[in-house]
Amino acid sequence: MNRVIPLRERGQREVFCGLTGIVWLHRKVQDAFFLVVGSRTCAHLVQSAAGVMIFAEPRFATAIIDERDLAGLADCHDELDRVVARLLARRPEIRTLFLVGSCPSEVIKLDLARAAQRLDGVHAPQVRVLNYSGSGIETTFTQGEDACLAAWVPRLPREGAAPLLVVGSLPDVVEDQFARLFGALGIPVRFFPPRRSTELPAVGPGTRFLLAQPFLAETARLLEERGAVHLAAPFPFGEEGTTGWLRAAAAAFEIPPALFDAVTRPGRERARTALAAHHARLAGKRVFLFPDSQLEVPLARFLARELGMQLVEVGTPYLHRAHLAHELPLLPEGVTLSEGQDVERQLDRCRAARPDLVVCGLGLANTLEAEGLTTKWSIELVFSPVHGYEQAGDLAELFARPLVRKEKLANAAA
Ligand code: SF4
Repeated sequence: MNRVIPLRERGQREVFCGLTGIVWLHRKVQDAFFLVVGSRTCAHLVQSAAGVMIFAEPRFATAIIDERDLAGLADCHDELDRVVARLLARRPEIRTLFLVGSCPSEVIKLDLARAAQRLDGVHAPQVRVLNYSGSGIETTFTQGEDACLAAWVPRLPREGAAPLLVVGSLPDVVEDQFARLFGALGIPVRFFPPRRSTELPAVGPGTRFLLAQPFLAETARLLEERGAVHLAAPFPFGEEGTTGWLRAAAAAFEIPPALFDAVTRPGRERARTALAAHHARLAGKRVFLFPDSQLEVPLARFLARELGMQLVEVGTPYLHRAHLAHELPLLPEGVTLSEGQDVERQLDRCRAARPDLVVCGLGLANTLEAEGLTTKWSIELVFSPVHGYEQAGDLAELFARPLVRKEKLANAAA
């Protein structure tokens, strides 16, 4: 169906593990707690990714596996039960507790699924206890969200299935905008994950769902197993992606085209105006995207088609062809798409190409800046509100900003 043949690479990788998902998931679901069962390394990772939030009363923590546990002197399950009981006594507002697996818990084969089942039996119905893995062995960055939501799907009620479900964690402000648009179209919509775990949407054969994020392969598979139907669509980045995404729902619910046009026109126009301001700066600039979040393909489509950028290479940790079926054909002819990573080889290609802008993780950014390349930290694309019409300009600005900064510094030095 599409002509893009990806370069498949396996080797040294420069990516986050799935634990990072906790940073945005705990903000989204206000009565959930994420207890990582791992090492000090895991605790450091989550704390540094969450930055200053560690000083507020956070809803995540790490139960550290220490030498006693590793030596088999302590029964990890008893320890975990004690930690959980203490935590829940201190934080009575918690309604869902996720036990999050890590590399150490997996390597010592700590059965967290069984622990979650046992603890769920003890603390239900007040608190539901679930388990998923965010380990670097099993998950890359945003796949942590997929693993979390997939673990939650079996708990979704079946009765009174939601007609339309939007799947993927979105900032509340973006969720509100989409809720208003669907409301104006006359489509009853629910969101997953919900803001509170007491508001879980029901899912069954009557449900149709739109993915708001491209990294939810397992969650989508489980929803389909339940009888829900996936609405194939581009992802809601930029004016074109957002319109295509909304249109997929409008078509499924047989919304008259005139109504669709009337509801979406103001947003489309605002997005186009906001993008025009950045087009002049970004058009013709060559961009190289390292693999990070799986957002790369939809973002590359947005950068090429709405901002006129030239794609040098589009890297993704994982290419889900079915979910990207509305994205891949929109990429320009001949683009290099790479799946997986061999970071040294990819760096060689990047250095040889000397792109105007490199989208990459924090681990590579400063090195490349020191070599005179301009970089954009890809993590911001996951942490910032970037979906929908109202955010299209902000999304473009994230890519324009490093180029503006570079220009200013060059002018100051001249
Ligand atoms: S889960 Fe694995 S990759 Fe992630 S911080 Fe812990 S040890 Fe490191």
